[in-house]
Parts: sequence; structure tokens; C-alpha cells
Amino acid sequence: MINVSNKHITIAGAARSGVAAAILLKKKGAVPFLSDSGTVDAKFANKLRKESIEFEENTHSERAMQGEFLVISPGVPTSSPIAQKFLNDEKPVFSEIEMASWFNRSPIVAVTGSNGKTTVVNWLHHTWKTAEKACIVAGNIGYAFSELVDQTDETKDALIEVSSFQLDHIDTFHPAVSVILNITPDHLDRYDNDFEKYAASKFRIAENQTSKDWFIYNADDDMISGFAKKLSKRENAPKMMAFSTESEVPNGAFVRNGQLIIRLDQKEEILMNIDDIALPGKHNLSNGMATALAARASEIKNEYIRESLQSFEGVEHRLEYVRTFNGVKYINDSKATNINAVWFALDSFNVPIVLILGGRDKGNDYLDLVTQIREKVHTVVAIGEAKEAIKNQLKDAVPNLTEAESMKEAVKKASKVAKRGEVVLLSPACSSFDMFDNYEHRGKVFKESVLEL
Ligand code: ADP
Repeated sequence: MINVSNKHITIAGAARSGVAAAILLKKKGAVPFLSDSGTVDAKFANKLRKESIEFEENTHSERAMQGEFLVISPGVPTSSPIAQKFLNDEKPVFSEIEMASWFNRSPIVAVTGSNGKTTVVNWLHHTWKTAEKACIVAGNIGYAFSELVDQTDETKDALIEVSSFQLDHIDTFHPAVSVILNITPDHLDRYDNDFEKYAASKFRIAENQTSKDWFIYNADDDMISGFAKKLSKRENAPKMMAFSTESEVPNGAFVRNGQLIIRLDQKEEILMNIDDIALPGKHNLSNGMATALAARASEIKNEYIRESLQSFEGVEHRLEYVRTFNGVKYINDSKATNINAVWFALDSFNVPIVLILGGRDKGNDYLDLVTQIREKVHTVVAIGEAKEAIKNQLKDAVPNLTEAESMKEAVKKASKVAKRGEVVLLSPACSSFDMFDNYEHRGKVFKESVLEL
């Protein structure tokens, strides 16, 4: 932790978390200066003016380079000139979550992983509400940690979603409970296309944990299990619990005869029937187990955990049920921006599927979906910039492959070929920026198109 009083501090990136960081720093007596290499959204610019915080756009000027240290927004890569300049000058670069955590007084429950972070953080929130245990919630949807940190105290838990970009620049960030859900290729462009580097950044979530803390991990993921083994040998290592949908773990959560079992200190408790878990799919079984263990680590009773696993309604744009029309179910999974998320989406259904796939491609290997597609998908409707790649890679795997120029057209085409009892699934495997403002916008347009049918 660094004393910020009267310090000139630069913040790179003037969007939600950068603006929140600047406001927090000002409140703590610092002199923040925001610098954005692009244009600053009017909404944020107005907020900054109101707070009398100086900022610049479309440039990183000499003034920006003069800050005593840099707070970097998750959207700004470490390779950016401004971060490189600070690093070359041997001045610290901190993420927004790191900086916010200097002012934190709550036990932190932090969740990372390639997929499922938002789902699990919201599921935790639901569990805390069910147990009437006080908390604040920060993450990708809702609030930045900087916005809420002044509300923290020892009696409240801070439930926070942490991306690898935030973990890249931590120093003293110290969760009482950390959770790693999974690690699959995503955002590799920000890690020199090096999967190990990307994984290493996620593992930093445990770097400041001690024997008083909990580390909760997915035992079905070899890379994470390997890390956990190493971590357990570290001096002062955190206590550990694992979850698995495939095998029985010595300490943590697993499935036996269709029941979710929690085994802690050699004692087994049957939590519930896995069919009673509210959200569908094997991935949500994993997410539910992770939620249950983090709740146990935070001393929430099984009865509340059970109730929460049974009643959580999920998060918008993540396998979200939209409507049944002519006997066909329409599902919005717009947040599936990588192949792994689509794999689990397809795995969640036992009926024939029409799949709307595509958008801005980050170098996807669609062939990873072939087994699932051969088994379940009779039609792929390809959209966006990825159309060609999808056509080239999947044309032999699926009986019908068609293209659409807009979401409305894609939904229309899908509705024409889907039969009673089937599912039309938007699970694009791509980012949305070729056709939409963001994945929320894409999901909204999908839902509107479905409701117009
Ligand atoms: P994140 O916050 O990590 O991006 P989300 O909860 O927003 O994760 O979910 C992103 C996508 O991944 C959605 O399509 C969702 O259905 C899918 N998903 C959720 N949990 C998992 C998981 N454990 N493994 C794989 N995919 C998942």
C-alpha cells in the first residue's frame, strides 16, 4: 500500500473502472489525472467534470507520464506505451482492484477464471442474500471495487470478480477466499499468445494468501490442479478445497449417485440432489459447487447454500431463456465469447439445436466444437466477420450451414428450420464489436428479434 495523499497519480483508461479509481483517489487526497488514448464517453467526461478531475483524451501527454505511479484500467494492455513508459522508468503500475484494496476493510471473496466469473459472483450474492449475511458486490456488471470500497467493514464480505488483467497488476491484494473456476484459452493476444502466461496471471489470486485463508479450485482442470499441488507446498499456504464433476475429491465438493456431497475434514455431508440445482449444464454444476464452497469457507450454513443453489435464476445473457414460440425454445447466450463457453452451452441441451454463431473472431478453432455439433446441431446460422472461418471449418460437420447479415435475419432463418421441441441458441463464440456496441447489446437485439417472431 502506498500513501496517496497529495500525490500526482495517472490513471490510464477513462471508462468505468478508471473513472471510479480517479474519484476514489481524489477522495483520499490524491491529485488524479486520467489519460485515455481514445475518446472519452460523454457520460464519463461529465462525471469527471462534476468531480473536478482533470483528464485528457486521444493522447497520453507528457503530463500523464509524470505521475508518481500508474493505475491501469483492465481494458488497457500492459504493452501500451503509457504502461511501458512507467515500467521503463521503474515506476509502479497497479490495477484498479489493487489500488481499491488499499482502502478495503472487508474479508474479500475473489473469483477468477476464464468463464463463469460473473455467474458465480452473482450466485454468491444470491447466497449471501439468502443467508442474510452482509456483503458488497463488485465486478464486471454493476460496480467497480473503487466505487464501493468505502462501504467495506469487517462485518461485511466483499464479493468480487477479478479478471486476469486486474491480477496482472496486483501487489498486496489479499483475498480471504479465492476461487479459480477454470482456465481455457481467451485473451491470449494480451499474453504474447502464451497460455502459460495467461494461466500464471490467474494464479496470482493466491499470491498473498496465508494459512488463515481459503483457496478453492476446479480439480477437473489439470493446469489448476497442478498449480494447487505446488501451492500446497508453499510456506504458509492457504487452506484448500476442490470441486469436481468427475471424481471424488478428498476435501471439497463432488458428485456421488446424483448427489452433491461436501467432504471437509474427512466428514461427508449430502448437500442436495444435483437435479435440484437451478441452472442447467455441467458448467453450472461446477459453478454451483464453487459457490457452495466459497459460502462454506465464509461460514454460511448448508441450509442457506442449498436454498440458494435451488433458487438462483442466473444472469442475463448467460444461457438465458427468452421464450418458447411454436414449441421451440429460444436461448440467449450472448456472453459466450469464446469456444469453451459454447462447448458447455451445447453440452447443456439434450435436444436438436439451431446454433447462431459468429461475430468478431479472436482466432477461434471451431473444430473444437465438432463433436458436440455432430451430435446435436442440425443448422448453424453464421453471422458477422467470422462467417468465412465458420464456413470453412464447420461445413463438413453440420447438415445445414447458412449465413445471415443481421441478427434479425439470423433469428428468422433459425425459426424457419427449428422444429417443435428443439432449441434455437445464440452462443456466438466471438466478441460482438463488428455488429454491436457490446455483448449486452447483441443479446438485447437477439431477444427483441425473438419477441417479434
Ligand atoms: P465471465 O464473467 O467469466 O465472462 P460469465 O458468467 O459471464 O463468465 O459467463 C460467460 C459465458 O460462459 C456464458 O456463455 C456462460 O454460459 C458460460 N459459462 C459460465 N460458467 C462457465 C463455466 N464454468 N465453464 C464454461 N463456460 C461457462
